[in-house]
Amino acid sequence: MDPTLITPPPERAPASAGPDSKSASRWPGGARFVVCVTVHMDGPAVEAGRGQNHLGLHSRGRYAARRGVPRSLDILARHGIPATFFMCGYDAELYPALMREVHGAGHEVAAHGYQHEGWDLGGDEPALLEKTHAILSDCVGEAPVGWCSPSGRKSRLTLPTLKRLGYRYDASEKDEDLPYLATIDGRQADDFVILPNNTVSLDDAPLYVQGQATAAEALDNWIEELETIATGDGYVHFTVHPRAGYGSGTPARSAAFEHFLVAAKAMPGVRFVTLRDLADHCLAAPANWRNPRL
Ligand SMILES: [Zn+2]
Repeated sequence: MDPTLITPPPERAPASAGPDSKSASRWPGGARFVVCVTVHMDGPAVEAGRGQNHLGLHSRGRYAARRGVPRSLDILARHGIPATFFMCGYDAELYPALMREVHGAGHEVAAHGYQHEGWDLGGDEPALLEKTHAILSDCVGEAPVGWCSPSGRKSRLTLPTLKRLGYRYDASEKDEDLPYLATIDGRQADDFVILPNNTVSLDDAPLYVQGQATAAEALDNWIEELETIATGDGYVHFTVHPRAGYGSGTPARSAAFEHFLVAAKAMPGVRFVTLRDLADHCLAAPANWRNPRL
């Protein structure tokens, strides 16, 4: 077991408690279920972090900046849906105007590493978190309050550093279906929430890369997950990557993304919220989220 991994899962309630015993009053505005759309830009920062120049075969991250993010913004605007955009500091340095366009459209800009560091950073981690925090803050004029680990990597330094910088949520964990309060330095915090990113089946990377799915197959899978979650735990954390290659940025895959949003919008009781808004909702009544199944 990796000793650097930290967040222990909350205690589980007995199965008899039911998966949705609180769902009627749990979500913002009394919604039956919430959909959080998250866009992981994953621009040239990904290739830069691997030591590759982002040309030719390695230019798929640049596709995100040129086509994928603008296309995502158009889709979200057509449907009036707010989203959370996870951005790398390196991409913000390359494309500051694009970052400001995302922010100016009313979407949340959140942090996603400097060069998408999907490896253990050791003692360098706090400085890198601070670096991206400063870049994004300066770029859009508002400090990020949310973070999602590139490639899922975390250490014992991650949450204490984020909390010190004023963050209120982490969207990296894949160990629950519902939000829950984070444990930081051995204590469960009441001002920092885990918003699990349990996208093993909703995410495009497992489907399009490992699964070799078509856009239509990915959409079918997303809809199945949506319909099941809507009548159960009620928290849909839907992630797309507007890249070429492993992402949903290209035309047919972007169309599948839009079809998913149309289907979600048509379901009664849905509410679309950014992760920041959901975190603030949870932290306004932290007792409800210490163990959301009790
Ligand atoms: Zn990423």
